[in-house]
Order: sequence, then C-alpha cells, then structure tokens
Amino acid sequence: MPLSVMGHIDSCLTIDLGAIIANWRYIDSLSSATTTTAAMVKANGYGLGAKNVAEALANAGCTEFFVANLGEAITLRQHLDERGHKQLRIMTLHGCQRDGLDDHVAFRITPVLNDLEQLSRWHMCSQQRSESLPALLHIDTGMTRLGFDADQIDWLIENKSALDGLDCRYLMSHLVSAEVADDPTNALQLATFNEWRRWFPGMPASLANSAGSMLSPDYHFQMTRPGIALYGADPADQATDKLMRVVTWQARIIQLRQAKAGDHVGYGGTHLLDRPSRIATIGVGYADGYNRKLGGKASVLIGPQTAPVIGRVSMDSVTVDVTDIDPAHLQHGFVELLHDDYNLSRMAGDAETIAYEILTRLGTRPSRHYQNS
Ligand SMILES: *Cc1c(COP(=O)(O)O)cnc(C)c1O
Repeated sequence: MPLSVMGHIDSCLTIDLGAIIANWRYIDSLSSATTTTAAMVKANGYGLGAKNVAEALANAGCTEFFVANLGEAITLRQHLDERGHKQLRIMTLHGCQRDGLDDHVAFRITPVLNDLEQLSRWHMCSQQRSESLPALLHIDTGMTRLGFDADQIDWLIENKSALDGLDCRYLMSHLVSAEVADDPTNALQLATFNEWRRWFPGMPASLANSAGSMLSPDYHFQMTRPGIALYGADPADQATDKLMRVVTWQARIIQLRQAKAGDHVGYGGTHLLDRPSRIATIGVGYADGYNRKLGGKASVLIGPQTAPVIGRVSMDSVTVDVTDIDPAHLQHGFVELLHDDYNLSRMAGDAETIAYEILTRLGTRPSRHYQNS
C-alpha cells in the first residue's frame, strides 16, 4: 500500500509537480522566446492546490499567475511572500470590485479591467495614491462574458486619457472555441483583436488559453495563459503524448465480498450479477468528486489489471467487480481511479463532462500529496 493511502485516509491524490512544470515548459516551447507563458491557477489551481502549483512553477521560472478573484489572489500572495517569491505578478480575472480596491493595492494584485466602471475605479484609485497602478485591459472579441464591449472600446479610443497614469501591462481577450482548431471563430476573433490592438500601440497583448497556445504563433502575442494543459489534459480531451499526466488518484478497498448470481448491486439495484462474483467496495464516492455518471462505465486499475465499476456511485463508496482479478493484486488493498489507461480525459468522457470539471470538483476529503517539486 502506498504511504499516501495509509492511516485514516481512504482516497488520495498524488500530484506530480514535476509534470506540471514539464507541461508548462512544453506550452512555453510552442511560442517564441519573446512570449511570456503565464500560469492559470484559478479555482485552487484547478482543484490541485494553487499554492503548491504556483510555488513549483515560480521555482521553474514562471512569473505571471492568474486567479479568478481577490480572495484567491490574497491567499496565493501570502503564501508566495512567505516562500520568498515576492516579485511575482498575480492577476485577478474578475478585476477590481467596488470593495476590493484597497486590498488589490495592499497585496500588490493586478486587476484585469473588464469594463469602464472597473477602469474608472482603478484610475481614481491610482490618482488618489499618485501611483501608477498596474492593470490588464480585457476587451471582448466574441465571448460576451467579460471584457469591454465594442461601444466601450470605441469610447476608450476617443478618451485615451482615461488610461493616463495607469500601467497597462497587457491588452487581452479570450478565445471562444480555440480547442476546435479549424473553427472559423478563431480567425474572426484574431482579426477583431488585431483591429482593436492598432489603437493601443506599444501595449503588449495576450489572447491564448491552452488551446490557443497550440494554434499558430499568430495567436501567441506577448503572453499566453494556459490552464488545463498544465494539469495534463488536452483542452479538447483528445489523446496526447505531449502532455504529462499530473494526477494519480488511489483509493482503498474497504471490503471484499462474495455475491451470488442474481444479486443486485448498489442503490436502485441497477446492476444484476449474472454469475457468482467477487465485489470490492472502494472508499471513494461522489462526495470525493468521483462523478455519479461513472457508475457502470469507469474502470479501475488493480495491479496490472483493470476492473469495471458496477452499480451506482454512492456518496462514500463505489463497487467494483473483481471476479477476474488475481487475488494477489487485491492484497495491496488499493486501486487506482485515474491512471495511464484511464486518464482525466477518458473519465471526463464517461462522466459526460470536461476534464476541467472533473478536476475542479475533486472534493476536500481526498488527501493531496505532492511529488517532484
Ligand atoms: C480559465 C482561463 C484561461 C485558461 O484556460 P485553459 O483552457 O484552462 O487553458 C485563460 N484565459 C482566461 C480569461 C480564462 O478565464
């Protein structure tokens, strides 16, 4: 039994920080040397632990980090300061809300300004302090979610003084369908972005998420903003050998039992056994982030063999048919839920969702262990 599932823990996530670094370097290698590769560590580093991920990437030379909101930013800032990484840039995608101005300044957080209201707030803040505060300007090129809309951009172009005294680090936008490489929306957004960019001469630009980083260099500009690829999943959930697997998820066999042909397994009795069977009950369930849709679809690794998850996924357990598994392998007392044959993307497919959601819904109950930092 691995050290990490010993003791009081029934399921544990092993997070390979070395693999995250390798994936960051791979994405970085796709763009030219003048393009900075930032790291997206929002939602607690896609569920894997923003502090550990950011610290490892900082040690590897990453200097720019994005989170969603100020709370995430402050938690990360305090950790990185403690670890002696004081010069890193932390940016909030949601920008500065009315009640977050002072803390953005106090914790040296750079807001992404998403509309004129945020711009005027941050501008006023900068004037009151007679300090040139850093910011990113987010313009919307088709997402209709965040960012200055066309009217606001027009206004800004005619009222450039609204930016006076601010240190505008990047003009950014976000791609709608970058994971579909031949989607015409990509080229349209790129063209729109380049048109607006002409009005902000000299301002560095940023457009690409993970999938955008894998498109042509036209999409890279001065900074890319990969998230999911760092965590080892292809943005389109395609098989890839370019990205290293980051997460291993192991869980304890909490009981082995013999069942008869004709027995039903689990809630609703949805699985009928057609032969005398051996069932392993595993200590992981939907409360841990093991998706309910995986019941009857997923498989787990036991030693060198795989075994199917049968019946419904419960809150704290799942049932696996281990009739065909060599009893010697069962003696180890644990199974692997995510492994080379059954990676995040396959799990996402079976759960009818995307790898992003599998990761960010990992519960707090599984312990997290970090390797190779
Ligand atoms: C989340 C996010 C990213 C990263 O996206 P991935 O698909 O995970 O690479 C980049 N930019 C913005 C604005 C985002 O919200």
